[in-house]
Amino acid sequence: MTEDHRLTPGDAINLSELATRADTFHENRKAAEKVFNELRIELAEWQRRLYAHGEHKLLIVLQAMDAGGKDSTIRKVFRGVNPQGVRVNSFKAPTSADLAHDFLWRVHKLVPGTGTIGVFNRSHYEDVLVVRVEEIVPQSVWEARYEQINQFEKLLTETGTTILKFYLHISKDEQRERFQDRIDEPEKHWKFSHADLEKREQWDAYMEVYQAALNRCTTEWAPWYVIPADQKWYRNLAIARALVGTLRNLNPEYPSPKVDISHLKID
Ligand code: ATP
Ligand code: MG
Repeated sequence: MTEDHRLTPGDAINLSELATRADTFHENRKAAEKVFNELRIELAEWQRRLYAHGEHKLLIVLQAMDAGGKDSTIRKVFRGVNPQGVRVNSFKAPTSADLAHDFLWRVHKLVPGTGTIGVFNRSHYEDVLVVRVEEIVPQSVWEARYEQINQFEKLLTETGTTILKFYLHISKDEQRERFQDRIDEPEKHWKFSHADLEKREQWDAYMEVYQAALNRCTTEWAPWYVIPADQKWYRNLAIARALVGTLRNLNPEYPSPKVDISHLKID
């Protein structure tokens, strides 16, 4: 793993050894928030360039346990970015039409087009996560999916998409506190669901399937990041850094006008 929490292909990780807290990475919350705000503004500028340039596509995949912070990450990191250039899709349990097709069918339809940023709130990874824990399909089916996912993501990157995958890594204790908040605060009641508690009971099984997905689907073309996510301020900073770093490398430019317009006067 690198300092920015990006996994390295071939280097298997053990999720229980990876930090859910920032302590060892960044001690000063105030300073982190200041940098985050600067990065947010830079992200908005990069999105304008990406759109104007019109050649690249950026796909961001967010996965986490319940209360892991997927929604709030999207809200905080993309605040200030032109909503026209960002499309968020949330993947719930598949419909009967989805189930009548291969598992990537509903996903492929929603990948971002040129000049845009696509955010997946949950994703095709559910098909090797919840589907394994709940034993929705037999092993022969889920086993093949890791390679199918890698090849699907390869196709996307070979056709102009840059893919960033973030696993928001929270501890079981942090999840308990966030669930308790949802129970204690009336305006958060709507977020509470009994299904979340059932999943919490299977915490270890989920960690195991997450670890398998992270290890088997970290590729040169579509890396996973394991973001310490117990502290929201650090989570936001780490994700903004990865996004802005990627966009700096892509460096989309505003296209120059096809004719010289510098002396043009409009009356
Ligand atoms: P929030 O609870 O913050 O609104 P959420 O993403 O947890 O967001 P829910 O409606 O609570 O949304 O849950 C969606 C459910 O759909 C999740 O439990 C997820 O595991 C499940 N799901 C998503 N994709 C699949 C799939 N391919 N097969 C089975 N279940 C899936
Ligand atoms: Mg939920």
